[in-house]
Amino acid sequence: MKQQVMTEPGKIIFKDVPIIEPKVGEVLIKIQRIGVCGSDIHVNHGKHPYTSYPVTQGHEVSGVIEHCGFGVTDCAVGDLVTIQPQVVCGICYPCTHGAYHICDDLKVMGFQTTGMASEFFTCDADRVLKLPDDMTPDEGAMVEPVAVACHALSRSIDPKGKKIVVMGAGPIGNLVGQAAKGLGAESVLITDLSDFRLGLAKEVGLDHTVNPSRQDLGDAIVKAFGSDKADLILECVGVQSTMEAAITNARKGTDIIVVGVFGDRPLVDLGLVQDHEIRLIGTAMYQTCDYMQAIELIEKGSIQLEPLMTDHFAFEDYEKAYAYLDEAKDRAMKVFIDLD
Ligand SMILES: [Zn+2]
Ligand SMILES: [Zn+2]
Repeated sequence: MKQQVMTEPGKIIFKDVPIIEPKVGEVLIKIQRIGVCGSDIHVNHGKHPYTSYPVTQGHEVSGVIEHCGFGVTDCAVGDLVTIQPQVVCGICYPCTHGAYHICDDLKVMGFQTTGMASEFFTCDADRVLKLPDDMTPDEGAMVEPVAVACHALSRSIDPKGKKIVVMGAGPIGNLVGQAAKGLGAESVLITDLSDFRLGLAKEVGLDHTVNPSRQDLGDAIVKAFGSDKADLILECVGVQSTMEAAITNARKGTDIIVVGVFGDRPLVDLGLVQDHEIRLIGTAMYQTCDYMQAIELIEKGSIQLEPLMTDHFAFEDYEKAYAYLDEAKDRAMKVFIDLD
């Protein structure tokens, strides 16, 4: 079978490797769809802080179970599934205290260990989640980013009835906004420099859109939410300017959830964080419960995925997908690699 390998930033080859037959408790999955995400783009640019090369990418996938090893009971041949890409140690402090998703020795498939960008993938059945019968492979490959959004929203106050600012209307920001609404947020204001992305945010039902290149964010927040401003801000870009804007515009005593992956180290005003009693809260990955919540929100129709699915590339065109993402930055949202 063919397996994608990024040998150095920006360079992808395809290796011919044997299919690994599933052992006890494992399943063999025929991969159908792979989503390309912002973290993958960081790897493609050599800017992901925790990835070395060569690496086989792919962590947002859907596929069909081809073969089950002995003892597998939760899924069966023919099931459409997605895979949770974490490999954890099970013995460190986070693992033994309910936070295995931030295991001290965490290895994420596609970053620190082999990802799923191959025709077939073999893994432990307990990493696999069966998807509802009416879910499409495209939707299945987007459960992972929705789980990122659900986990981020679990890190602070209950979004129900709250006014929320989301910085960044890329795929993760958009999904964070939609998940917040799905969980009962009263109103979501989302920002981006791309009017295309803001248009999509409107299309999926987010309440207020702001382009900070034309509008003052502080004024826009007051106009949308009143002088009490937002109850919660989620930074979903991962650059200095948006982090700084989040800190500057946060209501005193509120939380900022740091969702974006920072390629460069930001210089921000921690003086304001101190003086305004702002809490900066990190969020990373997700747990199985976040996947379950993601699947539920998608099933209920609380999250519209279709408008975000902008592009498809064939498996052998992986490099072209990245070139396109670099060049079409503000027109592209979710780019898929198709293997079926
Ligand atoms: Zn991702
Ligand atoms: Zn651990």
